Amino acid sequence: MTSSFTVSREPLLVVVSGPSGVGKSTVVDRILARVPDIVASVSVTTRPPRGGERDGFDYFFVTREEFERRRDAGEYLEWAEVHGNFYGTPAAFVESALAAGTGVILEIDIQGGMSVRGRFPGAVLIFLFPPDLETLRARLDGRATDEEAVIRCRLENAKRELARFDGYDYIVVNDDVERCAGDCLSIIRAETLRRERSTIA
Ligand code: ADP
Ligand code: 5GP
Repeated sequence: MTSSFTVSREPLLVVVSGPSGVGKSTVVDRILARVPDIVASVSVTTRPPRGGERDGFDYFFVTREEFERRRDAGEYLEWAEVHGNFYGTPAAFVESALAAGTGVILEIDIQGGMSVRGRFPGAVLIFLFPPDLETLRARLDGRATDEEAVIRCRLENAKRELARFDGYDYIVVNDDVERCAGDCLSIIRAETLRRERSTIA
């Protein structure tokens, strides 16, 4: 008589950061399309929507007053001011997904990444790098949704961010989307299989 082992795995909390325009949303979409048991958290922001962005899908767009009310009520897992706007991760969504055994991806800035690491030491932090600054500029221009002054501000922030990745676990270069998403999928798979996250019955 043989009986097989049942291995259960803890869900992952994955943070994807990198300068604006590096391709975080593009890469995260590919990960979501290929990993069945992982979901993306939708952040709350005071930034106005860009053309084509949908409330509740890309972000929850709120006023500064509403953002502050939720922040003061402790509704965010982490929050930060980025490029002059507030952004926050809703705690209830992330906690209930993890409790239900579903992994969560957060597409957030470095300040947020460091807060998450403090609260969830087992979180997996991935930092996306552009191949070079000219390519980053071209991607920001190509997105064609921001004013020139906004793009300039984002490029200046990018130069600072590209020197602050030392709290991250992995650096992945987004030269080719397929390869970059493939590297992220390898990281997610390997981290899921770690002994510390596995229980055998
Ligand atoms: P982020 O979420 O980091 O701000 P986006 O995912 O919006 O960046 O990508 C910015 C722009 O760059 C988009 O127009 C996207 O289609 C493009 N892009 C993303 N990754 C690549 C890539 N590897 N090669 C070429 N263009 C890319
Ligand atoms: P964008 O305005 O281009 O959508 O995002 C600007 C920056 O804010 C990006 O670096 C993005 O990752 C970050 N961001 C988006 N949502 C959150 C969030 O909930 N928390 C934090 N800390 N950063 C966020």
